[in-house]
Amino acid sequence: MNDCIFCKIVDGTIPSTKVYEDENVYAFMDVSPLTKGHTLLVPKTHVKDLFEMPEEVAANLYAVAPKIANAIKSAFNPAGLNTINNNGAFAGQTVFHYHLHFIPRYDETDGLKVKWETKQSEFTPDVLGQVAAQIKENLNS
Ligand code: AMP
Ligand code: ZN
Repeated sequence: MNDCIFCKIVDGTIPSTKVYEDENVYAFMDVSPLTKGHTLLVPKTHVKDLFEMPEEVAANLYAVAPKIANAIKSAFNPAGLNTINNNGAFAGQTVFHYHLHFIPRYDETDGLKVKWETKQSEFTPDVLGQVAAQIKENLNS
C-alpha cells in the first residue's frame, strides 16, 4: 500500500536491517529498539491490524514467530521475551501495518511495564460468564 512505511520496507524502497524473510513475512530490527534484539515481524501483504488480518496471513505470520523468538534467545540469552502487538492508536499503534514486536528482556530497569492493576473484584464468575457469552455471540461476525 502506497504510503505505508512497512510496505516500503518490505519492497525495499526504504532501508531496513533484515533478520528474516520468506514469501509471506519479513522481520527486521526496530529502528528505535527498547532492548538489544528488539525485532519486528510483519506480513508482506498490507494488513492494518489484527482486526483486519485474514486467517491465512495470521497462520503464516505466527508460524514464524517461534523461529524469531528462538533465534533471539540463542543469540542473546535474555532473561525473558515479550511479544507485543498494538492495535489502534489508543492501544499505542503508530505504524498502521500490522507488526509483532519481539522484545527481549534483560533486567527490570529496561523501561517496559507489562503489569496492570487487576479488576478481579468487578468480574465475578457471573459477570465473566456474561462477558464470555457476548464474545462468543460475535465470534464469526
Ligand atoms: P507501534 O507503536 O507498535 O506501532 O510500533 C511501531 C514501531 O515501528 C516503533 O517501535 C518504531 O520504532 C518502529 N519503526 C518505525 N519506523 C521504522 C523503520 N523505518 N524501521 C524500523 N522500525 C521502525
Ligand atoms: Zn503496509
